[in-house]
Amino acid sequence: MIVFEEKADLVAWRTQWAETKPKLKIGLVPTMGALHAGHASLIEQMKAQCDVVVLSIFVNPLQFNPNEDLGQYPRTPAEDFKLAQEMGTDIVFHPQAHDIYSPNHSFRLTEHLVSQKLCGAFRKGHFEGVATIVLKLFHLVQPHLAIFGLKDAQQFFLISKLIQDLDLNIQIIGAPTIREADGLALSSRNRYLNPEERRKAPLLYQTLCNAHEKLLSSRDPASSILGTEKNMLNSNGFQVQYLELLEAPELQRQVDYLEKNKNYLLAIAAFLGKTRLIDNILIKIA
Ligand code: AMP
Repeated sequence: MIVFEEKADLVAWRTQWAETKPKLKIGLVPTMGALHAGHASLIEQMKAQCDVVVLSIFVNPLQFNPNEDLGQYPRTPAEDFKLAQEMGTDIVFHPQAHDIYSPNHSFRLTEHLVSQKLCGAFRKGHFEGVATIVLKLFHLVQPHLAIFGLKDAQQFFLISKLIQDLDLNIQIIGAPTIREADGLALSSRNRYLNPEERRKAPLLYQTLCNAHEKLLSSRDPASSILGTEKNMLNSNGFQVQYLELLEAPELQRQVDYLEKNKNYLLAIAAFLGKTRLIDNILIKIA
């Protein structure tokens, strides 16, 4: 495994690769590090489909608001490199922020549809930061394939749109969410949870599952079902930001009743103490 700490070294490697091995497939796994089994599953899937796997580890300042957790975000490079190596990663790209963004960097990439609701409504500028770094990584690595977790479904739809709208020749894969045995979706932010919060945290996914079941079986509209579930979570110590059912992949229209052959995203974001957790279920009725 080779670790590139500088953009220039990665670019030199990529240029040489294009000259010497133009037919071999490059797969990109973008992450912010503090790697866990969810990230490992992305590497594993790329290993199966590509000749060389590039893992990027970069806590992207552009996607954090001033009042968010950029400073506290866990950074564990030594453990990350170990896991990356165990998973068979070929290249790790681990740059510094000043290398990625020059002091006069002033560009932001804005998307006007799928990034507007859900997390986009509560984290101003977040998806501009995500789209900007992902496009930069695409340019630097020039992958044939890129993989993103469906745990961040809105991000997955955003990057799919980026590829489509900007005519990028990259195949995107959406990977299923890896969970703890009690249902909690793995996340680098789970390590912020104190023992009591960790005990409560699985309720987030349980609520999604309950809501999903009721959406399939009850005659009540989604607005009423989700309202009840949201109140239940709030009375159990969560502060729910949103619990919504939207048509996917546009994420524009809130719906009250599921229809056949349509895709939906049932998504939640909630604070548990100071930790913001997100999760979702993708729904399609055949
Ligand atoms: P992050 O480091 O949190 O920015 O995540 C990097 C990538 O890993 C993103 O594509 C995430 O959607 C994906 N990811 C994060 N958590 C999980 C999980 N529990 N299961 C599968 N993929 C995940």
